[in-house]
Amino acid sequence: MAVIPARELFIDGTWVAPSTGRYLDVVNPATEEVIGRIAAGAAPDVNAAVAAATAAHKRGSWGKLTGKQRAETLRAIAQKIKDHKSDLARWETLDMGKPIDEAEWDMDDVAGCFEYYAGLAEKLDARQYSPIDVGMDEFSVKVRREPLGVVGLVTPWNYPLLMAAWKVAPALAAGCCCVLKPSEVASVTCLELAGLASDAGLPPGVLNVVTGLGQEAGAPLCSHPGVAKLAFTGSTATGRSVALAAATNLRPATCELGGKSALIIFEDADLDKAVEWVMFGAFWTNGQICSSTSRILVHSSIAADFYGKLKARAQSIRVGDPLEPGCRLGPVVSEAQYRRVSSYVQAGIDDGATLLTGGKRPAVCPRGFYLEPTVFINVRPHMRIWKEEIFGPVLSVSTFETEAEAVESANDSEFGLAGAVISADEERCKRVAEALEAGIVWVNCSQPCFCQAPWGGIKNSGFGRELGEWGLENYLSVKQVTTYVSPNPWDWYSPPSKL
Ligand code: NAD
Repeated sequence: MAVIPARELFIDGTWVAPSTGRYLDVVNPATEEVIGRIAAGAAPDVNAAVAAATAAHKRGSWGKLTGKQRAETLRAIAQKIKDHKSDLARWETLDMGKPIDEAEWDMDDVAGCFEYYAGLAEKLDARQYSPIDVGMDEFSVKVRREPLGVVGLVTPWNYPLLMAAWKVAPALAAGCCCVLKPSEVASVTCLELAGLASDAGLPPGVLNVVTGLGQEAGAPLCSHPGVAKLAFTGSTATGRSVALAAATNLRPATCELGGKSALIIFEDADLDKAVEWVMFGAFWTNGQICSSTSRILVHSSIAADFYGKLKARAQSIRVGDPLEPGCRLGPVVSEAQYRRVSSYVQAGIDDGATLLTGGKRPAVCPRGFYLEPTVFINVRPHMRIWKEEIFGPVLSVSTFETEAEAVESANDSEFGLAGAVISADEERCKRVAEALEAGIVWVNCSQPCFCQAPWGGIKNSGFGRELGEWGLENYLSVKQVTTYVSPNPWDWYSPPSKL
């Protein structure tokens, strides 16, 4: 019996079978069982979805509504998410293995994201035709904000519905029509979003969902000339091809990519609190977070105490069935990810780092893609586990002597998504926050994320910002409307002589 809903592609307000006739298995990473399937969409399906979105945009059934009218539908979508929260959370846990408590939290965030952008959609009305002072009485210059048109949204599997919401909610608030390509590894809840949004009154063609493999469905979407903007979240490698496709078509793109963020713990830190944030930054979502603070720099004078406390806490994490309330570490998302993360554990050992705890399959989980919470200490800057994004429950720890050395080591990375500092000294925290090369800095914490605040990175972590008002601007085009208001002729060229 299917434990997840059976769906097809969602194009122009209806469920349609994929042009390929093929489907991809949905595997529960906690049991390794096939629990359903998703359609393997390809270029013809992407073309149909872009055509439906283009037609909806041209009809003006969404983009020409006022922000206030769009806000009503966005709030209705938020309500649908709340009404179906427990099913959505369960399906997401079955699909990708995150603990159910976290999946439920995510669904609250998804609903909150739609509500937040409903508020910004309403405010957009008052921002229309805002005047610009150009210093000349003859002209009235005003700025109109218009939806960009059809947008292509490509998302990863670690926060399947939340990463989609970060794009769909502001795009809809701006009045855009969307084609969403969720990750083939976890598409179930994104398909449900399409159905729920339609039930909430979103017109046909405004939100289309094409599932399928990256090469077969994601690539044609990113290179489609009918797409006005691309918003991508995923790995740095894929981000590079998405950015290239956007550049070829001269379209704007935002790229939220990978990371290897550092968390610096100074000698004056409250160690128990620090350990708690370290755990949260490393093992939340089973360690599969782009902004994971997976590199720890701890002052050498407190390192021994820190290791003792961290080991005890890591070993006491409740690992097991992610559907069980109270579970704090489930399986990683897939067999491929399990192999990848395991190979990094082996690389850490081979490179000579010290395994403080973990590194194996937990004894209580004979099946499923489970790995113990794993901590390496004595990690050196040249080691792969220090430099590369692992995307699993593996933490790398190193020590430092001076603030300057800690900052230099934190910044010595190809990535620049996030960073964190823990210290009792406010001035020092401020200095370090300013010095860290990252789009997000946490002081005395790690990972809190709010839909009102900008999110995104620098360096190989990508470019552009999602969330907050920045998230909305991504989907708007500003149009200058200049009117000659003087009663007098412009009179640059003198009238031709009548002689
Ligand atoms: P991925 O790059 O493998 O896939 C992301 C999406 O891109 C999927 O939908 C995939 O099908 C699609 N895709 C693959 N090849 C494509 C192509 N050639 N053209 C267009 N689309 C293509 O990433 P993933 O494994 O799903 O997600 C994990 C990665 O996402 C990690 O690196 C993580 O750091 C990153 N991530 C970043 C953020 C952020 O906000 N910066 C948030 C979550 C995840």
